Amino acid sequence: MKLLCASPRLVRSVYCLIVVAVLPWIIWNGFLQQLNSEWNDMVLRLRPPASYSQALGQIVLLAIDDRTAAKYGPLPLNRRTLGAGMQALADAQPRVLALDLLLPEAGDPAADAALILALRRYPRLILGAALDNDGQPQASWIDPLPAFSDHATVAHVHAAPDPDGDVRSVLLIKQGASARRWALGLEAARLFLGAGRPLEQTESVTLGSIRLPASFAENRILFINYVGPEGAFQRVSFADLIERRTDPELFRNKLVIIGVTAQGGGDRIFTPVSSGIGMSGIEIHANVVRTILDRVFLRPVGPAAEFGLGLLVIGAAVLAMVWLQATRLLLAFLLLGALLFAAGFASVSLGYLFPIGSLITVFVFAAGMAAVSEHSILKRSLAGEVRRRQEYAFRVQAIAHEIKTPLTAIQGSSEMISESWVPEDQRLEMAGLIHKESKRLTGLVHTFLSVERLASGSVPLDKRPVALRQVCDEVVERGRLYAARKNIRVELRALDIQLNADQELLSFAIYNLITNGVKYSPKNTSILVAVEEGSTIVTVSVADQGQGILPAERERIFERFYRTRRDEKGSEEGTGIGLALVKEIVEQHGGRIFVESQPGGGSRFTMTLPKE
Ligand code: ADP
Repeated sequence: MKLLCASPRLVRSVYCLIVVAVLPWIIWNGFLQQLNSEWNDMVLRLRPPASYSQALGQIVLLAIDDRTAAKYGPLPLNRRTLGAGMQALADAQPRVLALDLLLPEAGDPAADAALILALRRYPRLILGAALDNDGQPQASWIDPLPAFSDHATVAHVHAAPDPDGDVRSVLLIKQGASARRWALGLEAARLFLGAGRPLEQTESVTLGSIRLPASFAENRILFINYVGPEGAFQRVSFADLIERRTDPELFRNKLVIIGVTAQGGGDRIFTPVSSGIGMSGIEIHANVVRTILDRVFLRPVGPAAEFGLGLLVIGAAVLAMVWLQATRLLLAFLLLGALLFAAGFASVSLGYLFPIGSLITVFVFAAGMAAVSEHSILKRSLAGEVRRRQEYAFRVQAIAHEIKTPLTAIQGSSEMISESWVPEDQRLEMAGLIHKESKRLTGLVHTFLSVERLASGSVPLDKRPVALRQVCDEVVERGRLYAARKNIRVELRALDIQLNADQELLSFAIYNLITNGVKYSPKNTSILVAVEEGSTIVTVSVADQGQGILPAERERIFERFYRTRRDEKGSEEGTGIGLALVKEIVEQHGGRIFVESQPGGGSRFTMTLPKE
C-alpha cells in the first residue's frame, strides 16, 4: 500500500524488478518444465501430417498382435511358430530385420535349431537385449543366446520414459554391467543405410552422413519426432505372414521390425501422441528410425538459451510496461502472447523444443504484474484527484465565505442608507463602507477569476522586451510602502537585463512574492530582491527573514487555495491564490519557480525565466 504514495515510474520499476527477480524460479521450476513438455506434446499432436517422409515407406511392422496371440499363443510366441514366420519372411528378402523380442533362454532344441536356421538367412539382423536391474550393482544384460546372435547385431530395446511416464526420447546408447549397446532404432537405421559403426563426438553421434544431435553430457538422448499416433507405419499381422496371406513384395528390401502389439503383451508405453492406450514398442522403434532417416531431429534449446529467451520475454514485457499504458499496454501484451504461441508452434517445425510453457508463464506473470502495477497507479492518481477535488471545494467555500462578508456589510449599509432617520455623517460613513467593501469584493473576484483563466490558458501573454531593472525598481518601490507597516526593509540588487515578457504579469508576480515576504515575516527584518543572469536564463529571487515553510508544505504552497497549516490559523489574511498565480505566470513564460526555506530561518523564492 506504501506504493500508493510513490510515483508511477517508481511503481512500475518495482513491479518490473519483481518480474525479473522471479524469472530464474519460473524457468527452472520442475512443474513448469513439465508444462514445457506438455506444450511440445500438444504441438506434436496438433501439427498437420508430415508432407514428406522417406522413411515411412521403407518400414514395415510385423505385429505379433491379438489375432496372432489368439491363434498361435499364448505369448511369448513359441520358437517353432517364430521360426516358421522367419522362414516365410526370409523368402521376401527384407533389407534389415529387427526383432524387438528377447531370446535369452534355450527352448525346445528342435524348434531353436529351426529358428537359428531361419535367422541365418538374414544378412542384416538385429536382436534385442535389455539391461536387468538397471542402475543397480547387480545389473546384467539379458542378451539373446549366442547361438541366435552369432551373426546378428545386438541392440538395446529400452525406452526412456520421462517422470510423467511418457516416452519422448530414447537413449542412443545404454551402458551398464560393463557393456554398451546401441539402441535398436539406431542400429536398424545404420544397417538400412549400410553405414559403418556410429562415430561418437562430444555433441553428436554420426551415422554415415547423418549427424544425430545427442550429446555425451545429456547421456546421448535423442528426442523422437513422432510421425503420428499408432498406425502411422505399414503393419502386417504375424498370423497373416505364417499363413502366407501377405504379398512378399511388401517386405522386399524394407526394414522390418517384429514385436508384440497384442494388448496383453505388455509392450505398450505412453507417448506424446498416444491417446487412450499406450503405443506399441515396435511403433516407437519405427519412429526412432524415422527421426534418423528423415533427419527430423528435435533439439531442446538448452538452459542458457532458455534463460535468454525468458529474459527476452521479460524485456519485452518490461519495456511495454515502462513505455505504454492502458489500452496500448493491453494490445502490446496481446501481441506478445500471440507471438509466443506462434513461436511455440513454429519452433517444433524448425526442429527446436522451446520452453514455451515457462515462457508463457513468464509472460502471464509479467502481464499480471503489469495489470497490478497499472491498477495501483490508477488507484493512486484517483486518490490524489479525489483529495485535490475535496481541497478545491473546501477552498472555494472559503472564498465564498470571504465574499459573503463584504456582501453582508454592503447589503446592511445599503438598506440603512435610504432610511430618513439616519444622520448625514453616518450616511456618508456607510457610503464609504459600501465603496470600500465593494472594492474588496471586486478585488477578490478578480483574483479568483485571474487564476482560473490563467490556469485554463485563456489569458494570452502580452510579451514585449522588458527592462527588468526598471520593472523591479517600480515593484520594489510599491513593496516598500507595503512593508513600512512592519518596518521591514526591502533591498534590490538588479542588473540591467532585457527580457521578452508580459510586463504587467511579471510585476504582479514579483510584487506578490514581496508582499508574501512582508506578510509572513516578523517586524524589523529585511527582504532582498535579486536579479541575476545566467547563460540561458534570468533569475529573480525574493529572500526574506521570515518564519519559513516546512519541507512537507514547500510544494503544496503553489497549489491553488493552499495555505500552510500555521497561516490558516494565523493573523495574516490570505486566500492561498497568490503563489498559484505566480507559478502560472512563470510557467506561461516557459520558466519555473521554487522555494528554499528553513523553518524559522527565512525563505527564498526563485523564478527562473528563459532569456529567449
Ligand atoms: P496567501 O498569502 O493569500 O495565503 P499565497 O498563495 O501567496 O496565498 O501563499 C500560500 C501560502 O504559502 C501562504 O498562506 C503561506 O502559508 C505560505 N507562504 C507564502 N509565502 C511565504 C513566505 N515568504 N514565508 C512563509 N510562508 C509563505
